[in-house]
Amino acid sequence: MNNATARIPDRLMRAVADGGPETVNLARRAWLKAAGVGAASVSIAALTQACSPTAAAGPTPAAAAAAPTGPAILASNESPFGPSPKAVEAMSAMLTKTARYANAETIDLQKKIAAIEGVDYEQVFISNGSAPILQVYGEMIAQKGKGELVSSVATYEGVPRAAEHYGAKMVLMPLTKDMTIDLDAMSKAATKKTTGFYVNNPNNPTGNMVDAAKLKAFAETHASATSPVFIDEAYLDLCDDYAGNVMTGLVRDGKNVIICRTFSKIYGMAGQRLGYGIAQKELAKELATAVRLGGINHLGLVAAMASLDDKEFVPTMRPKFAAGRAKLLEIAKSTGRPYAPNPQASFVFIDVDMPNKDFAAKMADEGVLVVGRTWPGFENWTRMCVGEDWELERAATAIKKVLA
Ligand code: PLP
Repeated sequence: MNNATARIPDRLMRAVADGGPETVNLARRAWLKAAGVGAASVSIAALTQACSPTAAAGPTPAAAAAAPTGPAILASNESPFGPSPKAVEAMSAMLTKTARYANAETIDLQKKIAAIEGVDYEQVFISNGSAPILQVYGEMIAQKGKGELVSSVATYEGVPRAAEHYGAKMVLMPLTKDMTIDLDAMSKAATKKTTGFYVNNPNNPTGNMVDAAKLKAFAETHASATSPVFIDEAYLDLCDDYAGNVMTGLVRDGKNVIICRTFSKIYGMAGQRLGYGIAQKELAKELATAVRLGGINHLGLVAAMASLDDKEFVPTMRPKFAAGRAKLLEIAKSTGRPYAPNPQASFVFIDVDMPNKDFAAKMADEGVLVVGRTWPGFENWTRMCVGEDWELERAATAIKKVLA
């Protein structure tokens, strides 16, 4: 991008000190301690079995660690089904080679993603999880306090939080009546001073989606040299109509759009950290430099490569997530409380008629971890994500008790 106003600051981005908003490890550890269980209670045999390439339908190491003696972990939109067995195999084979930096492997993955998406490999940039991409974009559009972000509330906080931290003016439009991102309102709110847009589709925490034609038109109208439109597709693989909603075509058409993806969700690699973006070449190069820092983690790269090669994996995972989502919807309906309709990701958003802080604590007492934080204007709303069957069953029982 030629316009100096939209450049990434020279300084390297800061680490997200708290490990990101989806972090739940402290709560998890506290529950495990209270319940008298810990890592030591998981047998090595169980872990080895779970990691075996043939264990596609069996428990993952994460699931084994949270077997019914532990809490139901429905807090952070992770996958309860774990990574592809082929990814596990690839990581195991790479363990002894992690002494090497993985520059060649990074380019290999860029090329693989580029081939899938129909873009040049220089338009793809890799990151350790997608959070650094959101962070760097937020900082970039803040432009040392002169920038303006147009987004919505409630949505995922990565970009708004970073943009605000670096001094951007925040223009966050409320959701529509049906609790989707209001693209019309965002359109009206855009000004000449706007330096960036953020749309999360499907949206965290509501889980629903904007109309694809509307999003395309929105990006075509607003993406300019001075205001990239950032479309966060972290959960897109989970929706019922991926092909009808994917927005990479905008980048192929030359629009100043950034598509952001992660291997943390359907690919079950949240702890391994691998994300990527797709943008116009010059911006992709700048973002790559800022998000890569010292380089990309070797195990994440080989796991991502193997996951993309495992053609069975996504088609196997989609119905599993859809079934979990249907159960979550039943739970939401059973409360008789308002909830965000038409969820298409891996979670539901429910009005629990009490501060979520209290609700989360009561659910934790019942052995169920739900999201700990809230979104402005939704302080009485909670978010619960797909888990294994026993976790969802426990959640159904617990929510009944807590809301009685
Ligand atoms: N985008 C969205 C919408 C998310 O919900 C998350 C995390 O939950 C992220 C990005 C960041 O995920 P990661 O850094 O694990 O790729």
